[in-house]
Amino acid sequence: MDIRIEGVSKHYQSEGKTIKALDDVSLTIERNQIYTLLGPSGCGKTTLLRCIVGLETPDTGEIRIGGEVVWSRDKGIAVPPEQRGLGMVFQTYAIWPHMNVFDNVAYPLQVRGVAAGAIRERVAATLRFVQLEGYEQRPATKLSGGQQQRVALARALVAEPKVILFDEPLSNLDAKLREETRKELRAFLGKLQITAVYVTHDRVEALALSDAIAVMRAGRIVETGTPQKIYFDADHRFVADFIGRANLVKATVRGEHGGHTVVDSPLGRLACQRRDFAAGSEATLCIRPEFIHVVAGEAPVGHNVVNGRVDSLTFVGEAYEAEIRVGEEQLLAKIDPDARLREGDAISFTLDPAHCLLVAA
Ligand code: ATP
Repeated sequence: MDIRIEGVSKHYQSEGKTIKALDDVSLTIERNQIYTLLGPSGCGKTTLLRCIVGLETPDTGEIRIGGEVVWSRDKGIAVPPEQRGLGMVFQTYAIWPHMNVFDNVAYPLQVRGVAAGAIRERVAATLRFVQLEGYEQRPATKLSGGQQQRVALARALVAEPKVILFDEPLSNLDAKLREETRKELRAFLGKLQITAVYVTHDRVEALALSDAIAVMRAGRIVETGTPQKIYFDADHRFVADFIGRANLVKATVRGEHGGHTVVDSPLGRLACQRRDFAAGSEATLCIRPEFIHVVAGEAPVGHNVVNGRVDSLTFVGEAYEAEIRVGEEQLLAKIDPDARLREGDAISFTLDPAHCLLVAA
């Protein structure tokens, strides 16, 4: 089922002030996609998710799920949450601690009045799917964090929803378990062929899980795209900065040359990924730390070669994080742990124009 959101706004009143939680949001979530709403705390992700579910009433706009209008102010339509055919996995209190695994998963079917035999079959199939077969009688509290999240997923899936929604479901797990559970979830959702809407403020989670990402800020959608588009080719400075570590440097556009946009910057004259910026306009150059390639030995001659000095080196296991000084600028670079560098060394590095991203200043 696809989800179409058009012109949805939502205001809250709090302590005499009006808070614009959603500001004219329009969005299309294609069927069977894992679609992530990503953004800093308070940007409106949960409010948008709750509007889709029907737990929150927008002020304006229209929401369709699989072609059916589930909410429209103009048409006077407000389908209640339980009739929208959705499953939901929350961050906290994901499962009921006083029930065993079977009862947790069976609950949504019991409230729908499904016959006992059908419930047993359906719960067994769902637990098999999330790899918790044999755990039926286990008290919910006697499960690991990852297993508890799988119970929550099973409970959301058992009634065969058309769409499943997740609100920061992994944020209570420790870093390692989070990574494992994220992979599992991606595999489960891939097998299910179901539309999933996922809310998180964790950029790595968004990149690893999603088919498409909408980056939000202050109640608005700033940009949407695949994880690769958002990471490598963002249109907005906010998005480029939010989705990963980035060196942001002021630049002045000089024009086009050889299929690249050429800029002058504190790093010198650089060929960048082609963008439609007028000559003379100001832009921001975005360079990710992993695309700064330090050259050993003699400085090469050619384009996009920059000379600098190593200000500091920090060993982080898979790499060194180096602060490299170029004039007044300090750049963060990710350097191969085998590189024989020391603090204070004069170095040269190259920048591939494909990874010199220009965004509006
Ligand atoms: P987080 O990542 O911290 O959960 P979020 O992006 O999900 O944040 P929302 O919970 O959607 O953000 O909140 C958007 C804005 O609306 C925030 O400024 C928040 O304080 C405000 N807000 C949310 N719910 C209410 C409410 N019931 N009453 C008043 N203000 C609210």
